Amino acid sequence: MRHLTNFIFDWSGTLVDDLPPVIDATNAVLAHCGRPILAREDFLREFELPFARFYERLLPGQVLAALEPVFHAAFVRSEEKATLLPHARDFLRWCQAQGHRCFVLSAAHPDHLAAQAREFALDSYFESIHAGIRDKTEHIHHLLEHHALRPEHTTFIGDMTHDIETARHGGVHSVAVLTGYQDAARLSGVNPDVMVHNLAELLKLIRPLDEDPVAAN
Ligand SMILES: [Mg+2]
Repeated sequence: MRHLTNFIFDWSGTLVDDLPPVIDATNAVLAHCGRPILAREDFLREFELPFARFYERLLPGQVLAALEPVFHAAFVRSEEKATLLPHARDFLRWCQAQGHRCFVLSAAHPDHLAAQAREFALDSYFESIHAGIRDKTEHIHHLLEHHALRPEHTTFIGDMTHDIETARHGGVHSVAVLTGYQDAARLSGVNPDVMVHNLAELLKLIRPLDEDPVAAN
């Protein structure tokens, strides 16, 4: 029998480009703390997940819980808007047509993610959305267990080294996409199983395998 594949998606930089409002909101936090704001290139060089590590480095001694309301207010009022990444919907549609189970594992705030999922009509593609996750490397074990996902049938797709490290923690396959926050040089440093420019390229890679008539028997 053909086994179904499970896909876990990171959100920011993998399905949705939220970089412009995230930079805006991060700069609001820095300004709030009397620190200089970051240009896009500086942000991309400095940013890392989990969030706590990034803020500890940039704003040592600040309490994360006190910064979060500043970030969220600035994110909501930013004139920069998140956009759906090209090929994201095609990839999700294909998953749905194949009967693959899809999940989201994201550090993004649940309210922001839910608003974007509604705006881009993405909700129906996912069995479950795990948002606002502080440390994905810890949470992936819970996600796999809770949804009874077999690691060998599961792939995590993300745009940051933390995503690839998370896949390794969970014992699942890892795919790095170059549509987000980190470039090929940085991502290749953590040895993803596969690295692609975008989800269209990934679909081309996996489609022949999945639709292989031998595997389908
Ligand atoms: Mg991401």
